[in-house]
Amino acid sequence: MKFALVGNPNCGKTTLFNNLTGSTAKVGNWPGVTVDRKEGIYKGLSFPLDVIDLPGIYSLAPYSPEEAVACSYIIDEKPDLIINIIDATNLERNLYLTTQLLEIDIPILVVLNMTDLLKSKGMKIDFRQLEKELGVPVSEISAISKNGIKEMMLKGVSAAKHQRTGCSVISYSALGKDYDSIVALLRDNDTDNACFYTTRILENPEDYTALYNLSNIAEIKKNAEQTADGDFEEYIADQRYRYITDNYMKSISVDLKKASQSEKIDNILTHRLLGIPIFLVIMFVVFHLTFSENLFFVTGLPSPGVFLSGIIEAFVERITVIMSFFLISVGANADSMLHGIIIDGLFAGVGTVLSFLPLIVILFLFLSIMEDSGYMSRAAFLMDRLFRYFGVSGKAFLPLLMGFGCSVPAISATKTLESDEEKKITIMMMTGFSCGAKLPIWTVFTAALFPSNADIVVFCIYIGGIAVMCIAGIVLKKFFIKGAPTSFIMELPPYHMPRPSNVAKYLWDKCSDYIYRATTIISISTIIIWLLSNYSFSLKPVEANSIDSMLGIIGNFLRPLFIPLGFASDPQSGWKPIVAILTGLIAKEMVVATTGVLYSPGIGSVFEDEGSRTALISILPMYFTPLAGLSFMFFNLLSIPCMAAVAAAKAELKSTKSMFMVLGFWLLIAYITSFLIYTVGSIFLI
Ligand code: GDP
Ligand code: MG
Repeated sequence: MKFALVGNPNCGKTTLFNNLTGSTAKVGNWPGVTVDRKEGIYKGLSFPLDVIDLPGIYSLAPYSPEEAVACSYIIDEKPDLIINIIDATNLERNLYLTTQLLEIDIPILVVLNMTDLLKSKGMKIDFRQLEKELGVPVSEISAISKNGIKEMMLKGVSAAKHQRTGCSVISYSALGKDYDSIVALLRDNDTDNACFYTTRILENPEDYTALYNLSNIAEIKKNAEQTADGDFEEYIADQRYRYITDNYMKSISVDLKKASQSEKIDNILTHRLLGIPIFLVIMFVVFHLTFSENLFFVTGLPSPGVFLSGIIEAFVERITVIMSFFLISVGANADSMLHGIIIDGLFAGVGTVLSFLPLIVILFLFLSIMEDSGYMSRAAFLMDRLFRYFGVSGKAFLPLLMGFGCSVPAISATKTLESDEEKKITIMMMTGFSCGAKLPIWTVFTAALFPSNADIVVFCIYIGGIAVMCIAGIVLKKFFIKGAPTSFIMELPPYHMPRPSNVAKYLWDKCSDYIYRATTIISISTIIIWLLSNYSFSLKPVEANSIDSMLGIIGNFLRPLFIPLGFASDPQSGWKPIVAILTGLIAKEMVVATTGVLYSPGIGSVFEDEGSRTALISILPMYFTPLAGLSFMFFNLLSIPCMAAVAAAKAELKSTKSMFMVLGFWLLIAYITSFLIYTVGSIFLI
């Protein structure tokens, strides 16, 4: 059997064709014209089935090469079935071609494609009613998500088994009587596709003189001229549309209320001037509710996230104390290596990282609600307007938004971008979008150094990261990108209440990943860090976290480079933030885990009376000024996100050279930004 795919341009024919035929597809040329001829075999049934992708057309009147090719293929080569693909979101326009295809004596299956988009547009199509009105079978599919394809093919095979005689909606118009008499005359003459030719003869008799000269066709046409007001082509087109609206469109219902409500909300939320300020206010509220220690500006009232973090921390502390007693009871004294590795390495590091889980849950809860309600797509739409100035299309904003979760899938998502340059720049900008693993850094350092304004500072870090990347984008565009960014068309789904199941899934994905990392890579790394910070290069134990340890020596070696950034100036402890930064290049959770290990006051003492996070928060102000802390945070924000992100970038860029360029950019932008923050900040603060 041979099935032909027919439909308007952009209705998804090629997507469906590729789906059906996979690797069997062959592209050739139609004789005499430069229109692709694509054929392949569908193997999903018990017998192979030929599928041909005809060029996209709006009408069967053969005026363009595409129309001529499609029309003559259908009429001359007689496929066993016409699969008429319809963009379900554009039913009226697409059905115009359907009314013409129905006139051909070949079985038809009407296929509603893009049904995945209907719901978000508040549209519903009753395909059984449409089936009744059209008089031919109708299938619903989504070519892009491969839904309903097999059912469609089965329906197609059964339709192809029955002969079909064409019919026309023109029969129901005022022209109907004359139209039907011509059809009857042609049929008496054994002409195939009588309806199709009747339309042709009425519209353009010169092309069909052989048929036109049959008995009294010319006479009938002359009679009909008055009904059609002289212009058959216009009259027939009119009648087709009228029939479509009066009959076929009955099967579609549009939830106008839903559509118009969304529109009203959008008038405000995506307003040209107000849109971005509103976005910033929403983001600030989110950060306030997540991070503030003075919720609703009530002094001492912690946000739910901060409160829950305290509880987890107390829990971790209990277990640590029990573990410590247990170790001592089995002979591992407080100053033994085993005790050090487990309590000061593993528990200090992993415990600190885990106590941030509630904050991550709360932040992602808000973000997932914004996502599922439809607001995030508006944010992307707003950002598209903004980002065009920086040489990146809003299309790039979607992967960048994902970067708030984790850079690794976000970098992979740049696949959708057209040009390699745009891809490279988007990957470069990714690190400015603070990922979940960086969150503990902001929490600890803001709680320690900006206790009364933690929420504001975290907000500034998030916005600051984006701002730095926008500025970098302008510079990069000037030197690296040629041409305008590709245009970006995005569906704005109507707003709806977030669905708990979607929100829960999103949260679970983020949290389980965080816990997994804390218990695997982070726990192993904290042990290694404890060893490296308690032993010298000659493998002799040194005073805990001293400058003579392996990490102390490495950090101190790099210290001159970091002194201008403000957080490494102390000769005794300046190496610690550098080591934290270095370990953060492996995974960002390591920054806080390492800080937890390196700043713990010494063997056995850290958990005596307070949890690791609280201990860290009370210690840090002794080593960091607020300004140095800010510089430190921005360096961590902007430098290499993590090793997994580097691997993802290499995979996406497919070039080691480009990857190193990106790495260089990340380090450079981090250094420059931290330097400027510290230098400019020092000038203003003195
Ligand atoms: P053709 O011009 O008819 O060959 O259409 P294409 O196959 O090139 O598809 C046009 C556009 O519609 C592409 O961007 C597809 O990704 C998109 N598209 C195709 N099928 C679907 C679908 O079922 N759902 C959605 N949302 N998009 C689709
Ligand atoms: Mg195509």
